[in-house]
Amino acid sequence: MTSQRTRMRLIDRLRSQGISDESVLDAMGETPRHLFVDEALAHRAYEDTALPIGFNQTLSQPYIVARMTELALQNGKPKRVLELGTGSGYQSAVLARVALEVFSIERIKPLLDKARQRLRALKARNVRCKHGDGFEGWAEFAPFDVILGAAAPETLPENLLSQLAPGGVLLLPVGGSSQKLIQVTLTDDGFEQTVVEDVFFVPMLEGVQR
Ligand code: SAH
Repeated sequence: MTSQRTRMRLIDRLRSQGISDESVLDAMGETPRHLFVDEALAHRAYEDTALPIGFNQTLSQPYIVARMTELALQNGKPKRVLELGTGSGYQSAVLARVALEVFSIERIKPLLDKARQRLRALKARNVRCKHGDGFEGWAEFAPFDVILGAAAPETLPENLLSQLAPGGVLLLPVGGSSQKLIQVTLTDDGFEQTVVEDVFFVPMLEGVQR
């Protein structure tokens, strides 16, 4: 149930859902999603559904991981990607295959520790993680070609925009009970904002949890 064949079925489904970037499909096909959930849930890892990872958090459904990764690649292979909400580390592992460097912030320490172990085991050496509050971004490594988050703030955190490189893209779910995936691009004329689609993510919370 965690075989290559099961994973290929997931890729076929993503294709039928409109994901067409081959490098994204390859990255999803090569990343063992079952290693990012508890063993008891491993048999459900290739279903198109979000799965619990503890601490009231979820690993996003494959479709949304693929969709956000595809949007992250719209200007070619990104050099630096900032991810807000490492969670299980699955999205980080997918990003590691399509970007040069990935920087990922998680506010819940035990989740981060587990994610680090998994990423190390998979030899995703181009991912750097830290325990912190994603609302602050990661100024030390800014600017980023892509800033992407899997947790939804109530409103767009404007300060994160200052960590975008020229031409860079911020992809973030925004809202409360009703959320939209927002894309903000830093163009020569300033920030351009578009709505991608309706989404449902866990809330982005301030501060850190030990
Ligand atoms: N991309 C993750 C999805 C995890 S769910 C994966 O592939 O598993 C979203 C994660 O965002 C949760 O782990 C949650 O703890 C984290 N999060 C919420 N608010 C945050 C914040 N302000 N800073 C960093 N992480 C945050």
